[in-house]
Parts: sequence; C-alpha cells; structure tokens
Amino acid sequence: MTAFLDRLLLPGPAVVLATTLLLTGCAPGAVSATPQGQRSPGSAEGRAAGSVAGTTPEAPASAKKSGTKGPGPGKPSVDLTAHSATDPASPWVVVNKRSPLAPVDYEPELTTVRGYLVRPDAAPDLAALLDAADADGVHLTLRSASRGYPKQVQVYEGWVAQLGATEADVVSARPGHSEHQTGLAVDVGSSTRPECDFDPCFGDTVEGRWVAGHAAGFGFVIRYTPDNRAVTGYAAESWHLRWVGRDLAAHMRDTGVSTLEEVFDVPGGGYAR
Ligand SMILES: [Zn+2]
Repeated sequence: MTAFLDRLLLPGPAVVLATTLLLTGCAPGAVSATPQGQRSPGSAEGRAAGSVAGTTPEAPASAKKSGTKGPGPGKPSVDLTAHSATDPASPWVVVNKRSPLAPVDYEPELTTVRGYLVRPDAAPDLAALLDAADADGVHLTLRSASRGYPKQVQVYEGWVAQLGATEADVVSARPGHSEHQTGLAVDVGSSTRPECDFDPCFGDTVEGRWVAGHAAGFGFVIRYTPDNRAVTGYAAESWHLRWVGRDLAAHMRDTGVSTLEEVFDVPGGGYAR
C-alpha cells in the first residue's frame, strides 16, 4: 500500500506534460496515474457547481458566481463567529496559499471512514454522504483524505526536484498549505468512470453530478470551482470536498458564496512568496 501510494503521489517519469492539470489542492501524483490528462489549465471544463437531477430531494449545489460578496442583506443562518477560521483544530480553519496551517506541521486527530483517515468531527457526515449516494445507486469512491505534513513535504519536494519550484507550485501544494493536512478534505472518485478521477471530467460523471447536488446537505463544500479560482488560488477540482458542517455548508449553498475566504474574510489567491 505504501509503495502504491508513493507511486501515486510522487512524480513519475512521464508526467511533465500533465502539469497543466493544476491539481494543486489534491493528490498531485494523481496526474501520473492518469497520463491521458493533458488539458488546458483554468478552462471551464470542470463542472463542479453544475446543477444536477439528483434522486433525493435536496437543493442543488450553488451554481452562482463567487466573487460577488454574498446575497445582499439578510442575517446569516449560521453564527459565523462560532468557530475560528485560523485555529487548525477548528472545523472552519481556512487553509490556502496565503494562509498556511499554524503550526505548519499541525497534525489532527484522525479516524477512518471506509479505510481513509479523516478528522473525527467530519467522519459521520462523510459516512452519511457515501451511504446516501449508495442508496441512490451512485457509488462514490474515496481516493484521498488526510495527508500529513511529512507526506506533503515528500510530495512537494519530489515535484521541485523534477520541475523546479515554479512549476511545482502549479501542481502541488506547499507543505502546510494543503487542505488535506487538516483531515477535513477528501477527494472522491467515480466508480463508473475511474479514468476521470482527479480530472475535470469527474464533474460530468454520474458521481460528480451527484456530489455537486448533494455535498452541501452533508456538510461539504466543493472548495474549488471554475468561478472562484481567483479567490481560492486553486483551479477547479470538482472532486475535492471540504467538510465545514451542515449549517455552514447550507448557508454557503443558500447564499451563493462558494469560498471560505469570502465567508470569513481571509486572504486568498496565490502565494505571497
Ligand atoms: Zn483534494
């Protein structure tokens, strides 16, 4: 398993062209597992926020523009001061290229859901999400979950050695800057079209459409959408789910604010260098 993961997560010999995939928030080595993925960066092929004809009666995920600051007047349906946006132990911690985890090598307590490590507070909703999809006949797979600091160091330095720092920053998060280190983020995959895992075409799979329509109902946000790239600093990843709890996820869905940066007024965008 370790050897497999290393092969999956570390740069392989034939992946240079795949750097265009911009898998910055996720398992960077996934590109090496999907060598067909030579797509242009930043294009709108990701369908992360598309509406979906789900089989359970939940509201579709937001397809509204991010970058517009919320829905206008009206009181939030959730107390946005209930948890810290900077404490690494908070369910609402915001981690991006401008705001690393502090301490940078923070390690959360973890438990397992279907064999993958996540934080205990996210585990029940993740299990419920996967069970609900199964009940709808949609079989999501888990492809990546918690990834600790030492692993991220290994992954990032592997890319630097192969591509140089500039290109490494395009395909891999620097240690301390990956949401996966919080234990609150997972990458889901498609059982019907596994070739679309970690690829923009995931959004077009039956599993991707289900997730777009139902993630918020289980407390998850599709963190990186085609519309919020400038705010998050990451290209669209329709497979990367971040748990924030059901109240906040519903609030974000209902208000059309797709980023935690905007919700909590935390700086985003690219690395400050
Ligand atoms: Zn991810």
